Amino acid sequence: MKLTRKGFIGGTAAFAATSHFFPALAMGGKKEAIKIHQIRNATLRVRFGGVEFLIDPWLASKAEGMTFRKGSFASEVVDPAQLDIVMPMCELPMPLADVLAGVDAYVLTHLHPDHFDMASDGTAGAKLDKSVPLFVQNEREVGVMKKSGFADVRMLTDDGVTFNGVTLKRTYAKHGTKEPCGPASGIFFTAPGEKKTLWILGDTIWCDEVAKTMAELKPDVVILNACAAQLKTYGRLIMDDADVESVCRAAPNATVIASHMDTVAHASLTRKTLKAALEKRGLAGRVLMPDDGEEYSFN
Ligand SMILES: [Zn+2]
Repeated sequence: MKLTRKGFIGGTAAFAATSHFFPALAMGGKKEAIKIHQIRNATLRVRFGGVEFLIDPWLASKAEGMTFRKGSFASEVVDPAQLDIVMPMCELPMPLADVLAGVDAYVLTHLHPDHFDMASDGTAGAKLDKSVPLFVQNEREVGVMKKSGFADVRMLTDDGVTFNGVTLKRTYAKHGTKEPCGPASGIFFTAPGEKKTLWILGDTIWCDEVAKTMAELKPDVVILNACAAQLKTYGRLIMDDADVESVCRAAPNATVIASHMDTVAHASLTRKTLKAALEKRGLAGRVLMPDDGEEYSFN
């Protein structure tokens, strides 16, 4: 995975505006310990503790995409203009084979169609290698994945499960301001010898439970989902700019990365509008917002 030219420019801009970020960020070279590679939406390649993880692998092409109008959630859409927008709204930034190459384990924060490919017959993950270990959040999803042909399905736990020396701890995620749109999870990564910790918050709003977890875990690198997607019954499903500000205030020394941008129809923030909103909040340069295909390395 090479750092792209585009990625270099984006990372440098954020780096220049955030002085405390300087010691944590290394652009390439041998010292990096953690790599975060934004693929698309919540799909990320994460190298942590020397292990390659693929997070929330939604790998559909636009041609295989879906719309709210054709799905069962058409009546949930807040803005009718969103009904016919094809999701994913953009293609993968690299060949599928490159997304999958060298992955040691798949990790799914929750089984929703913008995080994992789901077929009409109830199976899931058609494009994935069924022999690669797959971590999911609960028994129901274990069942779906076994039915889908995955040979090594493992369940995340609140106490943490260990894979090749890396401990993955499931954290609570609240997937809706009115009511949660089903169970969702975050993942906290630690490993012996790894100086930094990583917390992928998953599809959650900022709430007391997440604030409590933040205070307990004190993560060094935080990835949050921030396009402020909305549906009628559930309200706002993931973070908006106010929530992102809350994360920044609660974790003043953490590197904050915003993901899940510019890919789903029910979003109410884009990279552009979120960036402008954060600037108004005095957070210019505080939050990294990678383009699809962009990669960061930390040591
Ligand atoms: Zn999502």
